Amino acid sequence: MTTQLLSSRLLSIQPSPSIAANALANELRAQGRDIINFTIGEPDFDTPPHIIQAASAAMQQGDTHYTDTRGSLALRQAIVSKLLRDNGLVYDLDEVIAGSGGKHIIYHALAATLNAGDEVIVHAPYWVSYPDIARLNAATPVIIPGDESSGFKLTAQALEQAITPHSKWVILNTPNNPSGAVYSREELLALAEVLRLHPQVLIMSDEIYEHFVYDNACHLSIVNVAPDLKARTLIVNGASKGYAMTGWRLGFAAGPSVLIKAIGKLISQTTTCPSSISQAAAVAAFAGDQTPIAQMREIYAQRRQRMLENLDGIAGLRCASPQGAFYIFANVAGLLGKQSPQGQYMASDTDLANYLLQEANVATVSGEAYGMSPYLRLSFSSPMDVIDEGCRRISAACRTLR
Ligand code: PMP
Repeated sequence: MTTQLLSSRLLSIQPSPSIAANALANELRAQGRDIINFTIGEPDFDTPPHIIQAASAAMQQGDTHYTDTRGSLALRQAIVSKLLRDNGLVYDLDEVIAGSGGKHIIYHALAATLNAGDEVIVHAPYWVSYPDIARLNAATPVIIPGDESSGFKLTAQALEQAITPHSKWVILNTPNNPSGAVYSREELLALAEVLRLHPQVLIMSDEIYEHFVYDNACHLSIVNVAPDLKARTLIVNGASKGYAMTGWRLGFAAGPSVLIKAIGKLISQTTTCPSSISQAAAVAAFAGDQTPIAQMREIYAQRRQRMLENLDGIAGLRCASPQGAFYIFANVAGLLGKQSPQGQYMASDTDLANYLLQEANVATVSGEAYGMSPYLRLSFSSPMDVIDEGCRRISAACRTLR
């Protein structure tokens, strides 16, 4: 078969660059290379034991059948309770739905709403999948350029300028992957003011990293600060990051019932429902002991500090301290235009990422993947000794650039 048989929509997208970078690191490792992998977009922790036990009990008890397409009643109740407990938000049972991961939910929400020619506003640096999911659904991603001086955050003015009569969605992501930006009440209020003027625009609030915020930062949803926007906001979240459950594939959304119903209709024709076993595990995650989250947050906070200290002082590399998530988005402008002893020229952040992988055995993701250059995303979801060794290698490799 030739690629000519593939759909034009599929040909308009790329494989997820962060998944590709991680896969390449793993492949090199399998070939025997001693690779330090800073591309990791998931917790390195194992899922807490009480969640595993709940899944195991579900299997033993015959909880092995299809469930309601929206997720089991127990899971939807747990999601409703979680939204109230963690976010202070009141949702009804018909305003929540579970899916096979946050990405699956985002895909289904966009597929259920986008028509050809619609625009999806995405702010750089962005999570790699938003623009391509929009493209897959015949829409046009409208990328608002990022600005480090505004803390990598979308400003009201930039949002206002990007909205057109074709705008269907604006995607917000706090805490942000890859920048670690966490939006404050004032910043969200300013965005809400603009959004109030454009009632046709739907708002997607991706809050998957909500539990990982540092220093005095506090996670807020736009729905917290602007309850009047609740009627057209879809909150996307899931078990992957907060509960170290990426492999279980369990995400959820909360939003207006018409949209939730539409996502459910689509899921009934695609994946039917998330795995019944993952759903039982997620009930234990959302409704059970929450102390593992605080423990993981504390460890991430220490790792973040360590990675910042390790990277501080590397000439040409500048790191803002991320307020959330588990990535450092390092500015590498000072390293471009330099050359390695082997003659490799650093024209871009992608060249630098390739150089670090080939010469220092450290895998990173270039800012280009997130629509903002020249940066490198370095995940600190790794043990301290790995963070130390990876940074030591980066430092040594950068020092040889002339
Ligand atoms: N949103 C963001 C910002 C993410 O970084 C990710 C995972 N990398 C997701 C959504 C999706 O996560 P999952 O599908 O595992 O729930």
